[in-house]
Amino acid sequence: MHFIPFNKPFIAGNELAYIKQSVDSGKISGDGLFTKKCHDFFAKRYGFGNALLTTSCTDALEMAAILVDVKPGDEVIMPSYTFVSSANAFVLRGAKVILADSRLDHPGIDEDKLEALITPRAKVIVVVHYAGVACNMDKIMALANKHNLIVVEDAAQCIDSFYTGADGVSKPLGSIGHLAAFSFHETKNVISGEGGMLVVNDNRFLGRAEIIREKGTNRSQFFRGEIDKYEWVDIGSSYLPTDIVAAFLYAQLENMDAIQTRRKAIWHRYMQTLLPLQVQGKIKLPYIPEYATNNGHIFYVLCADMDTRTGLIDYMKHNSVYAAFHYVSLHKSQFFMANNTVPNLPECDKYSDCLLRLPLFYDLTDEEIERVCDLVMGYYQGV
Ligand SMILES: *Cc1c(COP(=O)(O)O)cnc(C)c1O
Repeated sequence: MHFIPFNKPFIAGNELAYIKQSVDSGKISGDGLFTKKCHDFFAKRYGFGNALLTTSCTDALEMAAILVDVKPGDEVIMPSYTFVSSANAFVLRGAKVILADSRLDHPGIDEDKLEALITPRAKVIVVVHYAGVACNMDKIMALANKHNLIVVEDAAQCIDSFYTGADGVSKPLGSIGHLAAFSFHETKNVISGEGGMLVVNDNRFLGRAEIIREKGTNRSQFFRGEIDKYEWVDIGSSYLPTDIVAAFLYAQLENMDAIQTRRKAIWHRYMQTLLPLQVQGKIKLPYIPEYATNNGHIFYVLCADMDTRTGLIDYMKHNSVYAAFHYVSLHKSQFFMANNTVPNLPECDKYSDCLLRLPLFYDLTDEEIERVCDLVMGYYQGV
């Protein structure tokens, strides 16, 4: 039996041709021809009028942390069940991370447990739309407005996913918080190897965002001809990607519909085939709230406990299929535990211990999906 990996980066076809075009253009540093094409794509398709490509989502989050001006001792509330970058970006600026529990029915932050965590030092809420499934943004934004907090969407996983609130309007994830950070890492739906994007939805942050991204200089204004020299005006770093990366990304963006259609089809096939196991009470399948969409980023099952999950991972590996658990919740991480009192977050513990992601990538065939599902079902016949 051939090996089925957990992920395989999808190559759309025009990546190398566009890279060549970028090289031939004579300008391969940041904000070149293809960066502009990508920015235009996001503006047109999602209304992200103020999107800035970055070198990674981690860097976009670091930019967000600088922009919101968190100071040592300021508190930033975020889910514990997330990737380290959601936290590190703020910790790098001296902020204190306050970790929140996940929902009972979804790994996303439990909106109803948030208000109890807000102290006078609170400054930011970071939401993570896990697996591209929206958090309840009506509740989050209302809470943020009430307590004068800034909302940063860690939108790493949620390209082409949407939220429909009480106003009935479908909004792309990444357009609702004050700032949002996307990832184009090779494990995401649309990729450039490493890569990311900051979306600025609150115009207050716009001018400073391009300065921070350009090493703390007003070089972007200079290149637009708005000023006659550029100089050091603020703190900053080098957060803009080479145009070669943007060229790769643009080839992917042109294939957004094909990528999304296939990924969602794979997701639904898993869902349908594994439904009987949920009916029998052996596993739990993903839940998508009515206000959220599914973008086919992750398909996961929830096992009853960690031992069952470890058994399933081993059984699949033994049969040449690689399935992957996900986060060690931040509140159980070495770094957090060494520096903080550890909160009790039972739902995060559940997802850390029991969640298992099945292979999901564009080139996964229907036969391979069947093989993965047969293994999951075969395992549960044996336990
Ligand atoms: C992938 C991911 C990141 C990091 O993205 P990079 O582009 O690799 O920096 C951050 N947060 C979440 C939730 C992610 O899934």
